[in-house]
Amino acid sequence: MIVDSIETTILDIPLRRPHKFSILTIDSQALLLVRVTTRDGIVGVGEGVVPGGPWWGGESIEGMKILIDRYLAPLLVGRDVTRIGALGKMLDRMVAGAEFAKAALDMALWDAYGKGCGLSVNQLLGGPHRDRLPVTWALGADPADVVVAEARHKLAAGEHRSFKLKMGAGRPEDDVTRVCLVADALSAEADLAVDLNGSWDLATAERFLPEIVAAGVGLIEQPLPHWDVRGMARIADLLTVPVMADESVRTVHDATRLCQEQAADVLAVKLAKGGGITGVVETGVVAGAFGVTCYGGTTIESSIGTAASLHAFCAMPSLEAGSELFGTLLLADDVVVRPVAFEDGFVHLPTGPGLGVEVDEEKVARYARAV
Ligand code: MG
Repeated sequence: MIVDSIETTILDIPLRRPHKFSILTIDSQALLLVRVTTRDGIVGVGEGVVPGGPWWGGESIEGMKILIDRYLAPLLVGRDVTRIGALGKMLDRMVAGAEFAKAALDMALWDAYGKGCGLSVNQLLGGPHRDRLPVTWALGADPADVVVAEARHKLAAGEHRSFKLKMGAGRPEDDVTRVCLVADALSAEADLAVDLNGSWDLATAERFLPEIVAAGVGLIEQPLPHWDVRGMARIADLLTVPVMADESVRTVHDATRLCQEQAADVLAVKLAKGGGITGVVETGVVAGAFGVTCYGGTTIESSIGTAASLHAFCAMPSLEAGSELFGTLLLADDVVVRPVAFEDGFVHLPTGPGLGVEVDEEKVARYARAV
């Protein structure tokens, strides 16, 4: 299975409703479709995504395309797909960082590998520890009544029973009042988490987080900036509920340090920030060795990235904290023939060779960005 060519296409997919992060609101999501074609005609697909723009991790869709087309793809042409691990190490030596771009290629290589030998990526990774994952729904940084109404609708429809609230957009006092109103209304019937995207400093977190926990929030995600590992350890020690690291954990080395410093009870892993399937599975092994659980995060993927995430996450014994693989539910359309399946608050591991998804060429043509 020798790589013959690699093609990249930027797609812009509209969202069903605007999605608010702490510092921006998006109404469409760009993704970079990556196709690796082998000499015997197998096509592996992968997807590069960032959450709405470069604010989260420094990489952008446009930057990824240039990096892959100009630097990463030429290094892979003529190489053997079945040596994914060694190819990843080679790319790391030739291009520093750039985990989001490398993740898209890693996914496509795994898909090609699986298709070439007639096995699912999950089987190649050792097989499933589970066949489905519970899916938390992300509520935007909207006023309490809007958020509660959306959550109640999801609960009544049986779609989700755990929710994550975005925080950090406003003054801490206002934000805490809003979240406590939501928690008062929902905490008896649903699991609630908050994600601060690293917006607070240690003093603010020490002052306000116990109040949020007392109101019924059961998990606190990334309260402090990504670099403040010692501060995260202080917060993890202070609170009676789990603290989850997201921005603080990208590589297996980040995971090791967080675990050594006891700076998180849960690690949010995502294919994009973690360099793809290969990197995330390594991170899961480290977490498991420290007795820390992992949570399957999203960067708002289509069914391609969601399927890739499921193959990795379902193969990881330490991925015991559920997931937020709701990306395709936020998108108004998908780019595959049969999108990943959701049922009763769970998303199911796809079957079939490779990632188990088939690209819909009509959708690719419709959403391709004019360049
Ligand atoms: Mg997060």
